[in-house]
Amino acid sequence: MDFYDIIIIGTGAGGGTLLHRLKDSGKKILVLERGGFLPREKENWSSIEVFQKERYHTKEVWKTTGNRDLHPGTGYWVGGNTKVYGAALFRLREKDFEKLEHAGGISPEWPVKYKEFEPYYAEAEKLYCVHGKMGLDPTEPFRSSEYSFPPVSHEPRIQELHDGLVGKGLHPFFMPVGVKLNEADPLISECIRCNTCDGFPCLIHAKSDADINCVRPSLASPNVTLLTEAKVERLVTTANGKEIDFIEVIHKEESLKFRASIIVVACGAINSAALLLKSASEQYPDGLANGSGQVGRNFMKHLSAAMLGISSKANPTKFQKTLAVNDYYFGEADFSYPMGHVQLLGKSDKDQVSPDAPFFTPGKMLSEMASHSIDWWFTGEDLPDPDNRVTVLNDQIHLEYKENNIDGFRRLIHVWKKILGELDTGHALIPHAIYLSKDIPLAGVAHQVGTARFGGDPKTSVLDTNCKTHEIENLYVVDGSFFPSIGAVNPSLTIMANALRVGDHLTALLK
Ligand SMILES: Cc1cc2nc3c(=O)[nH]c(=O)nc-3n(C[C@H](O)[C@H](O)[C@H](O)COP(=O)(O)OP(=O)(O)OC[C@H]3O[C@@H](n4cnc5c(N)ncnc54)[C@H](O)[C@@H]3O)c2cc1C
Ligand code: SF4
Repeated sequence: MDFYDIIIIGTGAGGGTLLHRLKDSGKKILVLERGGFLPREKENWSSIEVFQKERYHTKEVWKTTGNRDLHPGTGYWVGGNTKVYGAALFRLREKDFEKLEHAGGISPEWPVKYKEFEPYYAEAEKLYCVHGKMGLDPTEPFRSSEYSFPPVSHEPRIQELHDGLVGKGLHPFFMPVGVKLNEADPLISECIRCNTCDGFPCLIHAKSDADINCVRPSLASPNVTLLTEAKVERLVTTANGKEIDFIEVIHKEESLKFRASIIVVACGAINSAALLLKSASEQYPDGLANGSGQVGRNFMKHLSAAMLGISSKANPTKFQKTLAVNDYYFGEADFSYPMGHVQLLGKSDKDQVSPDAPFFTPGKMLSEMASHSIDWWFTGEDLPDPDNRVTVLNDQIHLEYKENNIDGFRRLIHVWKKILGELDTGHALIPHAIYLSKDIPLAGVAHQVGTARFGGDPKTSVLDTNCKTHEIENLYVVDGSFFPSIGAVNPSLTIMANALRVGDHLTALLK
């Protein structure tokens, strides 16, 4: 059986970033990824292929309440879900790390605070080439430095929207976004600022994802071995149950076993919990490292909604993901609880709009709608609930989820509709514009976190503050699983920053 210093399972925001941190450690590292490299093909930029045919989603079927089938909107690739993410790379706010009262309950305190995360956020922003400008977001946490890359400019229609929002006393700001764009010298810019970014893979590899920014550069290190199409099936402990002895892997239909001093699970919050649960044994009948009973519980994914604001004015914007608003993040004058975050989505076309429209809507009308819409994305904080959970039955993932804390979020959408309606008048748009609002169904597990939360108390948490399992000495979980609460901004930068933090801990440990 081959022996390594470290095995990393999964190459997404968590695993890929951790690999990058450890690549120069001189340690012998094996990376196991169940997917392959996402192919470069014209379909990368086809809305029909990506959104309607779900070309890059797994065909795996999960189960949900009532034993119903669930077709998850997730993909297994080198780079994980960062291959298709919108690369909106936000820091959580300082208060997100504290106990915070919401209209629907308490968002719990983190055992490690923003102050400790700050330098890692700064490093993660550099590693993922995040463009932004400090000092504009009214809820921005303390930053020790300006972004390394200038903000991505607004196209004219979005600048107009920005000015309208400012006129209403709001504080829209440049979205922090990880694309390799050089606006000062477009001729040498890797990113061409196209309209197929958010939700699509980047055909020309100009998006900052975990594959391009972290995994591929790491493969130049002779001590790093990557095995793709290698699905880890089970973690097996030593006889005393204190350490992982070996792991079982299916690699292209062949069964393999590997050993390492340190095992890092980074399969994404749902699959990491599933792997721990599937690895139940006599010593761990409820799943590995599950003495607390918390493995798989407290699954969070954000309250989220996509909405088209349609006006009489055309919106020819190509790269629309440049503006966000946090004025209501922690509430408003007569509502002192958090409401959530507003950001622009990638610009939709008729093929993205059509699945939501009645079947009899003519194509021309869909094109008109898409060309006149501004596309919004809202996220609110769902609170950890032990009954929102991942379980595994007959080797199949079951996901139970009930929304909570919706009052502030509903209020946010209501307020936003009102603001857009008022802006319409100011900008000679159609008064009472049509809004297509869509809550994201459970299959939209893009922002999955929380299934193995970290904490100081082994009775109530799965991981310690270094993301090591409380019960198994050489087992770590380094992906979205560790979040005790989710906040209301996109989670990936926090997953990346944490991977760098844990990477430093592991480097010191293995010296
Ligand atoms: C359409 C879309 C848009 C998004 N936009 C944004 C955004 O703009 N900003 C943002 O912050 N976040 C965004 N996200 C969320 C973001 O992609 C995730 O937060 C992030 O990728 C999670 O990182 P992770 O390491 O936890 O898991 P993942 O990135 O999912 O990585 C898990 C990895 O583990 C592998 N794996 C799973 N099981 C096994 C196994 N048993 N054996 C071996 N390998 C395994 C998977 O193949 C995958 O490579 C978006 C997601 C989607 C789907
Ligand atoms: S906007 Fe830039 S990074 Fe995004 S898909 Fe287009 S070229 Fe790639």
